Parts: sequence; C-alpha cells; structure tokens
Amino acid sequence: MQIPAKWSNFIDGQWVENEVELPVFSPATAEPIAMISLASIEQAEQALEAAQRCVAERHLVHAKPAQRVSLLLRAAEEIRRVAEYGAHVLCLENGKNYADALDEFTEAARYFEYYAGMADKVEGVSIPLGDDYISFTNYEPMGVSVQIVPWNFPISICARSLAPALAAGNSCIVKSPELSPLGLCVLFEALEKAGFPQGSLHLLCGLGSEVGQHLVSSPKANQIVFTGSVATGQRIMQAASQWATPCVMELGGKSAAIVLEDADLDELLKNIKSGIFFNSGQVCSALSRLLVHEHIYEKTLQAIRGLVGELKLGDGFSKADITPVISAQQQQQIQKMCETALKEGAALIASGKTPLPEKGFYVQPTVFSTTDSSLSIAREEVFGPVLCVMPFYSDEQAVQLANETSYGLVAGVFTNNLNRALRFTQLLRSGQVFINEWYAGGIETPFGGVGLSGFGREKGQEALYSYVRTKCVTFKLKGA
Ligand code: NAD
Repeated sequence: MQIPAKWSNFIDGQWVENEVELPVFSPATAEPIAMISLASIEQAEQALEAAQRCVAERHLVHAKPAQRVSLLLRAAEEIRRVAEYGAHVLCLENGKNYADALDEFTEAARYFEYYAGMADKVEGVSIPLGDDYISFTNYEPMGVSVQIVPWNFPISICARSLAPALAAGNSCIVKSPELSPLGLCVLFEALEKAGFPQGSLHLLCGLGSEVGQHLVSSPKANQIVFTGSVATGQRIMQAASQWATPCVMELGGKSAAIVLEDADLDELLKNIKSGIFFNSGQVCSALSRLLVHEHIYEKTLQAIRGLVGELKLGDGFSKADITPVISAQQQQQIQKMCETALKEGAALIASGKTPLPEKGFYVQPTVFSTTDSSLSIAREEVFGPVLCVMPFYSDEQAVQLANETSYGLVAGVFTNNLNRALRFTQLLRSGQVFINEWYAGGIETPFGGVGLSGFGREKGQEALYSYVRTKCVTFKLKGA
C-alpha cells in the first residue's frame, strides 16, 4: 500500500504545510518513508489562539451534553473506518506489529465510545449548609488542554487524553512525536470528519525543544497532559510552574513482577513474553524486573532461556515476536545499557537467536540476572526487550526490592495464594497492581504513577476528572 510522500499539520480547521520538513524513517529498513511539515512557533501560537477563541465562544460547553455524546460517537465510527489504513501507516513508521497497530486504532475508537458514555454525566454535588444557604459544585472544563504525546503508542495514548478532554468540553492541542507522527494525521483526518467545532482540535508535529517547549510555557495553556520520559516531564513541570499550569504526568517505569513459589510456570512464561517483549519492550508499564522466589529461581531461569531461544525477530508485517525499536539512537542506548549491565557484574542468562537483519533498528531480546539491586539494569528504565531477574527469600524482601526504584508505575504478583497476593497489593508502591496477568485491565481501569512515574490518572471514569476543575457556588438566601 502506497502512503503519501508529504504530510501536514492540522491547525484551526485547516491542514497546513510548512517549508521546513522532517523525514520519517521506517525502523525496519532505516530508510525514509515520507516527509512531515514541521510546525513553527508562529503556528503553535496560531493553534493556541484558535483554541482559546473556541473556549471563549463556549461551543463545546454551550452545546447540550447529548451533542457532545453524538460527536464522540461519530468520532469513534470515523476512527473505525480508517483503522486498517492507519494501522498500515503506523506499522511502517513505528516498526510495531501490524496487529498491534490495528489494536491501537480500535482502542482509540473505544476511548471515544467510553467517554461518550460519560459526556452527559459530569454532575456536581449539592452541599448542605442549613436553610439559609444553597451550595453546589459545577465541573468546568480546564479550557485549552495541551497534550504532548510519545512515539511508543501514539494513537492510543493520544485518544486516551483527547476523548475525556473533549467529553468534558476542552479545546485540545496535540503535539505529535517527531519519530512517529503520521498515524496521528490519519487519526485527525477521522476526527475532522466527526465535525468537532472549529478551533477545538489541533495537531502539530514540531520539535519538542521548540514547539513543545513553547506550548507548555504559554500562559494560554490551561492544562498540560504529558506522556513521556522523566527528564522531559521535569522540564515541562518547570515551564508549567511559571503560570501554575496544572499537569497530568504519565512518565516512565521499572516495574517488578513478584513470582511466589506456587506460581504456574507456563502462565508466567506467557506473561513474560507479553510483559517485556511486546512492542520490543518499549512500554512504560513493561515487566522489566522479575523477582522470583528462591525455591523456583533456577527452574524459572531455565524456562526463560527456552522462551527467549524461540522468539522470532522481524518487521511489523511478519508477525514476528520482536520488531525493530524506534530509532538508531534508541537501539544504541539499549545496547549501551546491556554493556553496562555486563560491566557492572550482571549475568547474561539468555539472548535472542535470530541473526540481526542487515538493515533496521533491531535489538536482540536479552535477559540478565543479578542479586545486586544497586546495578543500573535493576534500577533504570531500558525501554527495550531487556529483562532483569533477581531472586528473593521472603515476602518482606520481595516488597523491599519491588519498591526500591524511584519509579512506581506498575507491580505484579504471580501466585495462587489470594491472601498473600492481597497483602502484597497493600504494600507495593505503584499506581496499579496486576495479579496473575501482566497488563490486566483496559481502558476502564484507572492508570497512573507514583514517584518518578508521575501523577494524575488516565483511563477509567476517574480520568474524566483530570480534565475538569471544580467550581463551588454558594448562595445566601434572603428572608426567613
Ligand atoms: P520523550 O520525553 O523524549 O518525548 C515525549 C514527547 O515530549 C515528544 O512528543 C517530544 O517531542 C516532547 N518533548 C520533548 N521535549 C519537550 C519539551 N521541552 N517541551 C514539551 N515537549 C517536549 O519520551 P519518548 O522517548 O517519546 O517516550 C518514552 C518515554 O515515555 C519512556 O520513559 C516511557 O516510559 C514514557 N511513557 C510513559 C507512559 C505512561 O503512560 N506512563 C506511556 C508511554 C511512554
């Protein structure tokens, strides 16, 4: 399937081009596949002004909530219509499996359906203050919601923020990731057809350090929703502090699964395969640390060797287990972290057997083991198909190891002992705990971090309240 050679940005209801362009590469071949217009600071300003105008004109707020419901449902329909084409584009530019790319579009449609179901139920409360007062709360949209999207799941992460933000009546500016911006253009072509008011939706591909920084530093932004690395999140929070702009921060992770001695080993292996090798480990909530009870430690290492030996490497259209990572820089960074792991004394337990293709940004699936939790491989996010396995001797030690990094996105427990599993859920420092299935849950389950994994919640009913603020109205009645 041919894809267009040139792609543009969506600002104030128009697809606009720019002379300055950025090549987009195929991670599978390392060759350019298309050019995208790079938005300028002036265009970012134009988007901010148009979004502000749309907020001031109150189009989405003035409408009956039922109209927002219809808009969101129409958006879901349009997204489903472009899903296969969009998945093809995403597979080409991102390197991920076609089936996973298609899932992103389907999930995006589901986000719009899910929050359509909430758009007419954003209800405040009434507060009893005695007979002489009437007091109630209203939920108001934040206004202009600036949303900075990463490259690893651009479509589903964009829809995860966009759908509740629009359901609540905000105007949104999405800054797409430089490395994987094309699929988002397909998503926005679908959203354009849904008929949202002019000025309520903008898509800009621009450099993070320029256009991204401009958007998050602007007093016209009433909210910043950021998904990405800790370092960028910290820069954005600094910029946001200037205007006290509220933020939702979805950052990185180094999530641990605790495997108790009664865990089902076959089930565990399936979960390791999806937990750390899905999307070549480029998942914020990847199962990147495996803490295994000493009684089954050697047996588990042996089983992992078998699993890794069978993983097939290939491009996103080949149904391979391990697809290329996003860029040469990401490839080098992962390789460097593996070299450091060996230098620091971690043991190499397993590595993929398929020869690396001559072209493309491939990395072998790799597993290390160590008993030293201070090693960088046991603490730092790799964002690649690399697992670190460690033994533990007691439940207390397992909790201590799991909680030892500065992150706190996800933790998991594999056991048939419900009582022990539930005790762990109380002690683990993380935004979510998966029991007996990594990635258990879906768009309905609230998601977010603790510590350096960030704050604020996406997904589920709770996320809608990340996109509104409470206004309390209190009325003094006259007379008896
Ligand atoms: P990144 O921080 O490099 O970039 C993310 C986005 O921020 C890009 O669109 C980039 O252009 C933009 N950006 C860069 N500098 C900016 C600035 N100064 N101001 C505004 N925007 C700026 O992250 P990445 O490499 O794209 O994504 C990988 C990271 O994202 C990993 O750490 C991963 O764990 C994290 N992540 C977290 C979640 C989550 O939900 N918690 C989900 C996916 C990815």
